[in-house]
Amino acid sequence: MYGGRERPDTVMQPSFLPSFSLQGRKALVTGASRGIGEALAVGLAAFGADVAIAGRSLDRLERCRSAIEAQGRHCLAVELDVAVTRRIEPAVAMAADAFGGLDILINNAGMEQIAPSLDVGEELWDRIVDTNLKGAFFVAQAAGRRMGKGSAILNICSLTSEVGVPTAAPYGSSKSGLLGLTRTLAVEWASRGIRVNALGPGYFRTELTETFYRDEGWQQRMLDRIPAGRFGALDDLVGAAVFLCSDAARYVTGQILYVDGGYMASI
Ligand code: NAP
Repeated sequence: MYGGRERPDTVMQPSFLPSFSLQGRKALVTGASRGIGEALAVGLAAFGADVAIAGRSLDRLERCRSAIEAQGRHCLAVELDVAVTRRIEPAVAMAADAFGGLDILINNAGMEQIAPSLDVGEELWDRIVDTNLKGAFFVAQAAGRRMGKGSAILNICSLTSEVGVPTAAPYGSSKSGLLGLTRTLAVEWASRGIRVNALGPGYFRTELTETFYRDEGWQQRMLDRIPAGRFGALDDLVGAAVFLCSDAARYVTGQILYVDGGYMASI
């Protein structure tokens, strides 16, 4: 069998090709009030999905909601702090109920605060890991309960999922853990028809990374190390995310795709 049908015995027919379209899909994107999450939520809508967006403030989600509706898609904004576990199940239920199901989750909500490891206290560790890793797990669990065959989860990882970065112990640990979680859920839920992959953005200028970019010396040192010779633009992430969430990636699970201008390939 080929994708549930007879394999064509000559040249592949266009009708057998998997689709990149997200038409009719129902998605949830966490941390969609700005930056990468906002770009991905609007990107999913541009490819046809209705998108529920989550963040800690409904006011801050308003711009993203307007952009999704401008694509002619439905949008529901949900107030959710992913670090508060008891709030996750009702928030995901609200999104799934509004759309009549859930096919796509992008676990994007994340935070970072650099600190030398000798100075990291428990409060900072918990705040970062609870948001980036624990929050992502419980959002995936709540979504996974509602997902059926053909669904996809995309976890937003990082170069620190694989590379050591000084002063980023809680963040790097959370993002390495998120990659491990990606692989675990991919294997555990493959039989349920739920694919779980990760996206690894390289260097993108957002509120999260703004302090680094204010340092021109840092910018030049980084540019020297990125083979493509430029930082990422938020739109650069959309194609990879749409691919991983669509039927075009129907046989891809447990993988991380770095969108980094060649950075990972060069180290
Ligand atoms: P950003 O501009 O600071 O956006 C972070 C988003 O997460 C915001 O929408 C924020 O919304 C939300 N958020 C933060 N804490 C939350 C919480 N507890 N509950 C719910 N939402 C929360 O950062 P970004 O650069 O776009 O980062 C997005 C993701 O990409 C993060 O997971 C980050 O680790 C990852 N990443 C970024 C880069 C980069 O170069 N920028 C590289 C690799 C990976 P509210 O504040 O409105 O709640």
